[in-house]
Amino acid sequence: MKRSHLQQNARQYINGRWETGVTSGLSENPSDTREVVAEYARADRSQTESAIRAAVDAFPHWSRTTPQRRADVLDQIGSELLARREELGVLLAREEGKTLAEAIAEATRAGQIFKFFAGEALRAGGETMSSMRPGVQVDVTREPVGVVGLIAPWNFPLAIPAWKIAPALAYGNSVVFKPAELVPACGWALAEIISRAALPAGTFNLVMGSGREVGQAIVDSPLVDAISFTGSVETGERILRAASARHAKVQLEMGGKNPLVVLADADLELAVDCAVQGAYFSTGQRCTASSRLIVEAPVHDAFVARLRRRMAALKVGHALERGIDIGPVVDRRQLGQNMASIAAAIEEGAEHVWGGELLTRPTAGHYMSPALFLARPHQRVAREEIFGPVACVLRADDYEHALVLANDTPFGLCAGICTASLQRAMHFKRHAKVGMTMVNLPTAGVDYHVPFGGRKASSYGPREQGRYAAEFYTTVKTGYVMA
Ligand code: NAD
Repeated sequence: MKRSHLQQNARQYINGRWETGVTSGLSENPSDTREVVAEYARADRSQTESAIRAAVDAFPHWSRTTPQRRADVLDQIGSELLARREELGVLLAREEGKTLAEAIAEATRAGQIFKFFAGEALRAGGETMSSMRPGVQVDVTREPVGVVGLIAPWNFPLAIPAWKIAPALAYGNSVVFKPAELVPACGWALAEIISRAALPAGTFNLVMGSGREVGQAIVDSPLVDAISFTGSVETGERILRAASARHAKVQLEMGGKNPLVVLADADLELAVDCAVQGAYFSTGQRCTASSRLIVEAPVHDAFVARLRRRMAALKVGHALERGIDIGPVVDRRQLGQNMASIAAAIEEGAEHVWGGELLTRPTAGHYMSPALFLARPHQRVAREEIFGPVACVLRADDYEHALVLANDTPFGLCAGICTASLQRAMHFKRHAKVGMTMVNLPTAGVDYHVPFGGRKASSYGPREQGRYAAEFYTTVKTGYVMA
């Protein structure tokens, strides 16, 4: 393996100090697997517990700091992220494999999120109400929850940690953050910026390592008051069982199998744009990806033909190469899973329209062409989350049928519709059983100042992002005063 001069030496950040791990690991570049992106420290259970104790000790002080102090810290972190967005984008593209443009946009978003929550720290307030009893005053105030454990996935290694860490700190909590094993350099880069923001020691801690050991230690610790997790349904459900058994607060963001409905009156070019962006950009590795394209019968064949033409023109390659539309799959395991899902789709009788092949490029990476199938609703390709550049088209007889198909899934994160009819669009917005709806837009691609999250198997607990983040990162206290 080639050790690049850009290689990071990523250490744990515990109680205001950089620490080596109990063991170490390597993260590799999925565009060129000969390149090591980082050698990183891996914690065990006892090192994780020391980070948790540091957060416990830091909480009383941090929770009592002024809103101005917290806003200044978050603003400083946001400013540095924005100033270094290009450099961070390169690191992100090298470690996770999304294209450089997508990676810079993600680094920018991470900076914007810290800036947003700097403002929220100042705006946090409560309510005063009249009592039912004469002479009594009632108020409702918000307090930080305590020590929060933040467990993140690999697919947005800067933005997802940012939208957990920023509100946690803004509302006065102390943090133990565990990034995914595939992206330690991004987690470390974020921690390094946070470490320079004059936070009291122990307020923010970074622990890297395996989910089973480090993640589980966070989930099991009676000292961790709340856990915010983004990742797979399987891990999320395990965390929910363990955390709720000890009455910890839990927030889970998990998978999706998001529908994009295309009605006969839609602008077909726009619909194809939405499908290409939603299904294939970021290599389809987004929980909001449009993996089910539900198309009304009169435009079905025309839509499929146009989409196929657009897919044939998409360029797959090294994430840092100019003009690339789609980077590699994140790792060998995910590529193997994508290929297995494609084989299963063919075996089940889904009609193969385009792609799904392994690609060779000048560098040894995990490359595949985006894949499209014509499927039936019961087939696995139409039901299971693949988390890769694989989508299927389902034929709908009419709008009512399309809506039934859209809701026929255990997931409920996001749903989109392309139509020229305001009436249909509004009906869809009301009746789609999801947390987010999109009209004439791709299902993936959301704003940072409004709630993010879903229903059914996609999410559990309060929404993330925007002002709604306060629901998870604070607890409400009702005060009665006889004056
Ligand atoms: P994953 O569930 O394998 O891992 C997510 C995180 O949990 C990692 O940090 C991992 O180390 C940790 N973890 C694993 N086992 C654990 C345990 N027993 N206890 C505590 N922590 C543990 O998911 P992934 O492979 O990193 O990400 C891909 C999945 O994430 C996809 O299924 C995707 O749909 C989902 N995802 C959802 C959203 C969303 O907001 N809804 C966003 C991005 C990704």
